[in-house]
Amino acid sequence: MMIEKPLPPPSVSRAAAYAGSFALFAAVVVMTLQQAHELVTASSLIFGMVTFAFLYYRRRCPGCGGLLRFRRDYIGDSPKFRCIHDCSQCGIAWCRDDIGDDSQT
Ligand SMILES: [Zn+2]
Repeated sequence: MMIEKPLPPPSVSRAAAYAGSFALFAAVVVMTLQQAHELVTASSLIFGMVTFAFLYYRRRCPGCGGLLRFRRDYIGDSPKFRCIHDCSQCGIAWCRDDIGDDSQT
């Protein structure tokens, strides 16, 4: 049986760390690809942006730092569901505040 706890929002310092890392990455890409075509530079920056966004939005367990597995917890027979992120290591089901709705898609 999983214990349910509210999932804390991502911290500001984590966002700042990712923003700083991306700025450094962008600077390195622009410096090393000075001679290359602008399309190569632009696609490298876009690839980096997508990668950093993916890493930032990927939820990690606030308890142990392990990867979380997303699960929809349907409310009764309705198309509405609670967004749950399970940590198998801690046995904690982290609940987000927002309610999903399958009928809108
Ligand atoms: Zn955990």
